[in-house]
Amino acid sequence: MAGAMLGNSGLARQLQVAALGSPLDSEAADDPITGERHKDRPEFDPTALELAPAFKLTRFADLKGRGCRVPPALVESVLGGLSNENTKPRGEGEVGKIGVGMDCTITPIRLGGLSMICTTDMFYPVVEDPYMMGRIACSSILSDLYAMGVQEVDNMLMFLGVSSKMTEKERDKVIPLVMEGFKDTAMEAGTKISGGQTVLNPWLMIGGVATSICSQEEYIIPDTAVVGDVLVLTKPLGTGVAMNCYQWLGSERWSRIKLVIGEDEARKGYKRALDTMARTNRSSAILMHKYNAHGATDISGLGLLGHAQALAKNQQNEVSFVIHNLPVIAKMAGVAKACGNMFSLLQGQASETSGGLLICLPREQAAAYCKDIERMEGYQSWIIGIVEKGSRTARIIDKPRVIEVPSKEKEDELW
Ligand code: MG
Repeated sequence: MAGAMLGNSGLARQLQVAALGSPLDSEAADDPITGERHKDRPEFDPTALELAPAFKLTRFADLKGRGCRVPPALVESVLGGLSNENTKPRGEGEVGKIGVGMDCTITPIRLGGLSMICTTDMFYPVVEDPYMMGRIACSSILSDLYAMGVQEVDNMLMFLGVSSKMTEKERDKVIPLVMEGFKDTAMEAGTKISGGQTVLNPWLMIGGVATSICSQEEYIIPDTAVVGDVLVLTKPLGTGVAMNCYQWLGSERWSRIKLVIGEDEARKGYKRALDTMARTNRSSAILMHKYNAHGATDISGLGLLGHAQALAKNQQNEVSFVIHNLPVIAKMAGVAKACGNMFSLLQGQASETSGGLLICLPREQAAAYCKDIERMEGYQSWIIGIVEKGSRTARIIDKPRVIEVPSKEKEDELW
């Protein structure tokens, strides 16, 4: 990455003070915010920040969605080179057994039978609202830990790539908002940001590291699915389609899809995508323990099927996953179909950002799990498939049932 380090510069310090309240070490989250601040914020309007009406955050990245994913086979071959005798589990019962491509690393630490569970991720802007982009990035980073059933995150670091293509004014208005969104989500999740790094480079980037120190009972290694389990998904698919659809409003591409979606529906789809991406998967992680989950992963860049395949491959038992139902943000299945093979949404290959958890649950617990999430969060979850005997693969049936989310429009409500 081309970039000038700003780690100790005046700009970095200024940005950190603006967004975190103090340089590098944010306040400890002893008193986590319980509300969801973003719901009361007005819709992003660049002119309210004295920026040009045409200001677009997504302009500060050249790649998005599947376009910025390194092919999984290449990742695997490169990461395979990192394995050595020291990184392999040494014996029966040793913690740390987790396949390349799964969500977190598990490192036993020297004291007290504890392990460090750690993940990192980074993002280019996928939405126009800088504050929401910060929230989405933070939620998405945390999601890898939540997929392991981790409930308490001890620390976060934040990475920021400040686009050298931004004017000084754009930078000064936008970057503190990105950081504020990131910080608010971290605080709502009951964690803190203790440091990070800021660099200048051509694209806007936001990322970070999340770490939890856990005893073995506090996390769930995703490898114990059994025949007869069911698969639950905790957020609808279609975030990538909804974001693209919104960006096409008023452009030539809109004419390709205007027969299947109206402008208001596209705006609503975008708002639903924003809402779902900004939500953390923390409640889903907490309930994984209550309902004896056998493992989970979070849905992101590889799409539902890609992540389901990675989870299946990681299983100890000879099992395979079969997906029958696809919950999709309302109208987005129609948009995806109208776009031919562009998204492969119904094939489970559409890239998602900050998607839900895909969880293997005992069949008799799954309905109660979904009900409990709805009670805690006010959002639906769905049983989307089954675990059957097989060779650790995953597939979607030929004609999956598409579940429109929400199934009915409610006045003045998103879901
Ligand atoms: Mg993940």
